[in-house]
Amino acid sequence: MTPASLRYVAFDQLHDEYGVLRDASPSVDVVVMVESDAILRAADWHPERLYFYRSSARHFAARLEERGFTVHFLRAASTVAGLRLIKDMYPEVPLLATEQSSFRQRERLSSIVDETRESDFFLTPRDEFVTWASSQRSYVMESFYRRQRVRLGALMEGDQPIGGAWNFDKDNRLGPPKQYQWPAPLYFERDAIDKDISAELNYEPSGAWATTREGALAQLNYFLSHHFATFGPYEDAMVADSWSLHHSLLSPYLNIGLLHPREVLDAALRRFDRGDIPIASAEGFVRQLIGWREYVNAMYWWQGPEYQERNGLNATAPLLPVFDDAAATSMACVSSTIRDIDARAWVHHIPRLMVLSNLALLADVNPQAFLAWMRRRFIDAAEWVMVPNVIGMGVHADGGAMMTKPYAAGGAYIDRMSTHCKGCRYNPKLRTGDTACPFTTLYWDFLARHETAFAKNHRMAQQMAGMRRLVDLPEVRARAVTVLDGLNRGEI
Ligand code: SF4
Repeated sequence: MTPASLRYVAFDQLHDEYGVLRDASPSVDVVVMVESDAILRAADWHPERLYFYRSSARHFAARLEERGFTVHFLRAASTVAGLRLIKDMYPEVPLLATEQSSFRQRERLSSIVDETRESDFFLTPRDEFVTWASSQRSYVMESFYRRQRVRLGALMEGDQPIGGAWNFDKDNRLGPPKQYQWPAPLYFERDAIDKDISAELNYEPSGAWATTREGALAQLNYFLSHHFATFGPYEDAMVADSWSLHHSLLSPYLNIGLLHPREVLDAALRRFDRGDIPIASAEGFVRQLIGWREYVNAMYWWQGPEYQERNGLNATAPLLPVFDDAAATSMACVSSTIRDIDARAWVHHIPRLMVLSNLALLADVNPQAFLAWMRRRFIDAAEWVMVPNVIGMGVHADGGAMMTKPYAAGGAYIDRMSTHCKGCRYNPKLRTGDTACPFTTLYWDFLARHETAFAKNHRMAQQMAGMRRLVDLPEVRARAVTVLDGLNRGEI
C-alpha cells in the first residue's frame, strides 16, 4: 500500500506527541530516521555522547514499531542522501519534517523536504520571542523570563509571582555545605540495544544516562522526589565528592526530545503544589527550564547564522592542552571538571561557565575553537544551545549583544563556590608568585589586556577601576605571561 506521507524524525526529535509524529498514524504514515555518516564523523565526539544519541534513536524506532509504525531506519552517507533513498522508494509520497534545530541542518534539508513544520519542541513560538525581542534595547533574560512566567502561568498567583518575588538568587547561590551527604544519582542498566551500540563503539558507557523514554521519565521522577526541594540553594555549588549534586540531569533528554519541556514544567508545578517544595528551589528550576533554556534557543535563531563566527575580543590563542587532558594542569578545579566530562560528558552550568569558559575567556582562546570543543564533549550539546552559551555568555565574543558584561572571574569566586581550592597547589588569594592562582592572575591581566574594549562599558567600571588601582599590576602581568605560556605547554 502506498503510504499517505513519509515522516522524517531527526535524532533530537524523539517524542511521539510532538513534531511530525503529533498527527501521524501507523496505518497510513511511514517514519524515516537516518543515521548520517557525515554527522557521526564530523567531529571526534565524546563516545558517551555518540552512545547516547545512537542508542536513544534506535530505542525510539523500536518504540514506534511496537506502536505499529513502519520505520525505515537507514545508515547513509548523509541525512540528505538517506532521505533521497527513501524518496526514490516512494516517489509520489510527500516527505514531512519538523524544522531542524540548527541553521545548517535546516538549510540542508530544505532542498529535499516537501513540508516543514515549525518546531514545537520548545515552549516559546518564534513569533512570541520576536515580539518581545523587537521591543527591547538589550535582551535581558530576566525580563524575558518574567514574561514567560506570566504567559505560561508558572508559579503565579493571579498576576503576581508566588512567594512575592520573581527571583530568589540570594537564597540560591550558596557555596557548598559542610559535612553534607549528597544523594546518589540514578544509574541505568543496559538492555540489548544499548549493548549492541556499546559493542559497535567499543565503549563502556557510564550508566549515568538512560536511552529510553521510560528511563527519562524515571530520571524526572527521581529528581522531583529526591532533589527538587534542595535544588535551589546549591545549584551553583561545585564539590569534588559529587558530580551531580542536586541537579535534575534532564537536559540530555529535553535536548533530544525524550522529554518535552511542557511535561517537565507540568510535573514540577504539580509537585510544588503538594506544598513541601521551597519556593526558592521551585523558582530556580523553573527559571532554568522556561527562562534560560527557552531564551538561549530563541536567541540562537534571533541572532542569525553568522553569530557563531563572532570574535569581538579578537581572541586567537589555540585550545589549551588541558581541555583534552586533565593531567595537563595542576589547577584542581579545572582537572576535576575535565575528569568529570571525560567520565560522563556532563558537568553542570557553573563549571561550564565559571571554570571552562572563564579559562578560555581569560586565556584569549579562539571562540570558534572553544565552541567546537564544547559541542563535541557534552552529552546535551546542540548548536542552538552551545552557540549562544559560548559566543554570547561564555567568552563574550559577540561584543555584548547578549550579555552586557563578560563572565570573567578570579579564583575568589571558585573558592567561595567550590571545595576545589582546598586541595589545589595554587592559592586563590594570590595574583603573583609561583603559587598564585592562575585564574586570579589572568583575571587582572585580562582586564588590563582588554582595557580599550571595556573602557566605555559602565557595567565594567568598578572592575576596571580595581585593576587600575593594583600597585603590583606590572608583576601581575609578568606572571600572566608565565601562566599563559605554562597553560599552552600543559605545565601550570
Ligand atoms: Fe582553581 Fe585557583 Fe582554586 Fe586552584 S586555587 S582550585 S586553580 S580557583
